[in-house]
Amino acid sequence: MKVPIGISARHTHLTKEHLEILFGSEYSLKVLKELSQPGEFASEETISIKGPRGIIDRVRILGPIRKYTQVEVSKTDAHKLGLNPPVRESGDIESSSPVTLIGPKGQVELKEGCIIASRHIHITPNDIKRLGLENISKVSVLVEGVKGGIMHNVTLKISENYEFELHLDVDDGNAHLINHGDFGTIIK
Ligand SMILES: [Zn+2]
Repeated sequence: MKVPIGISARHTHLTKEHLEILFGSEYSLKVLKELSQPGEFASEETISIKGPRGIIDRVRILGPIRKYTQVEVSKTDAHKLGLNPPVRESGDIESSSPVTLIGPKGQVELKEGCIIASRHIHITPNDIKRLGLENISKVSVLVEGVKGGIMHNVTLKISENYEFELHLDVDDGNAHLINHGDFGTIIK
């Protein structure tokens, strides 16, 4: 049960409203690079994110536009910002950390929206069957190597359109010396 691993750097998702405050009205994101999940892309645009203790520049915006604005950071980023974001699934931002977004045309003070993304595997219903993972919501993943280990609480995100891949943040990747494209082993 090998799964390819993708490391997700800090990034933001934006609503149309927030994109227009940060970049100007009727602005649309330019595609820099298609991501592994179909339809998702890294945009050319970046913003700065600011917390009570610090600021991080050149934070990539991922497109397309979403129904909610969300900032995904690592724990290391959170220390730099002076925030203590919860570990959440994407989209579950209620009562998450406040953060300020700064773009070339304006800024947005989010009352909530900054999270540390939970470890997750993008998987299709077919792969769920193939791997015998029916009725399981979370798995563990073993990674080999000199800093190998077992990562628990890996959520299964299921959709027909997904490309099979484990997504970890930079802290998890660095802790286990994982490179983008390495493989882990799913443990039920
Ligand atoms: Zn993902």
